[in-house]
Amino acid sequence: MHDSAKLDYAVFAINQIVLFAIAVSTFLSPAIISNTILEFAAVLGLQTAGTDSSLALRILYTVYIVLLWDFSATYAHYLKHKVPVLWEVHKVHHSAEVLTPITALRRHPLDALFGTVCTSIIMGAGIGVWVLFLGQDVMPIYVFGSLIGIWVWRIAGYNLRHSHLWLSYGDFWNRVFISPAQHQVHHSKSQQHYDKNFGHIFSVWDSLFGTLYCPKDTERVQFGIGDDELPEYRSLFGLYVTPVVKIWRHFAGFPADEKLQRDTGQP
Ligand SMILES: [Zn+2]
Ligand SMILES: [Zn+2]
Repeated sequence: MHDSAKLDYAVFAINQIVLFAIAVSTFLSPAIISNTILEFAAVLGLQTAGTDSSLALRILYTVYIVLLWDFSATYAHYLKHKVPVLWEVHKVHHSAEVLTPITALRRHPLDALFGTVCTSIIMGAGIGVWVLFLGQDVMPIYVFGSLIGIWVWRIAGYNLRHSHLWLSYGDFWNRVFISPAQHQVHHSKSQQHYDKNFGHIFSVWDSLFGTLYCPKDTERVQFGIGDDELPEYRSLFGLYVTPVVKIWRHFAGFPADEKLQRDTGQP
């Protein structure tokens, strides 16, 4: 019932009911991209591969799709931190001062829109390449309507990512899977934790980006963004309007110290 958590619930309701369901979710899908690749391949005279729906191929395809999704979501997240305009909208998620499972949905609509577009492009490209070489009649393996890999991830601690319960998988497994503790570090206000652990399921992408942070012991993490900015994000109006105003100021050419930048100098 913290004020920050109440904002999470309100943002969730507004995005889901009013904006997100209508606009973003129908904007772009991986199918559009993969079909574009296949049409382009057809113009070049390349035929898609024939049908083979053996279990081995289904397992391979499922692993491929899960890796593709995880990479695309992680790369989109990486860009949200590295590109100043994207950070401005992603900051809404990071302005949460307490973490509850609903904080996962505390996102500015432009943040959600960028995430959808970025993951759709990467996944669509990857699916297009698969269909081109290995056929289009392979069904990945689902459990209760979710890809099995993502379903396992969701029941194996996903909701603890946005919570105050410190669950680390230990030094070895934290290098394989992103533990809830590692995502809590991602939300930390401390400078040594900035721009670490962008991953969702696997740690390998953060290893490649050089952004993996494996906590040695339990750490006391304070969540949020710099104290100078935080008050601007403590109202619904601020969560929706502040990022747009800051982006406008950025493009309107305000002096450098007014421009978007990670809040350097914060403890
Ligand atoms: Zn982030
Ligand atoms: Zn988060």
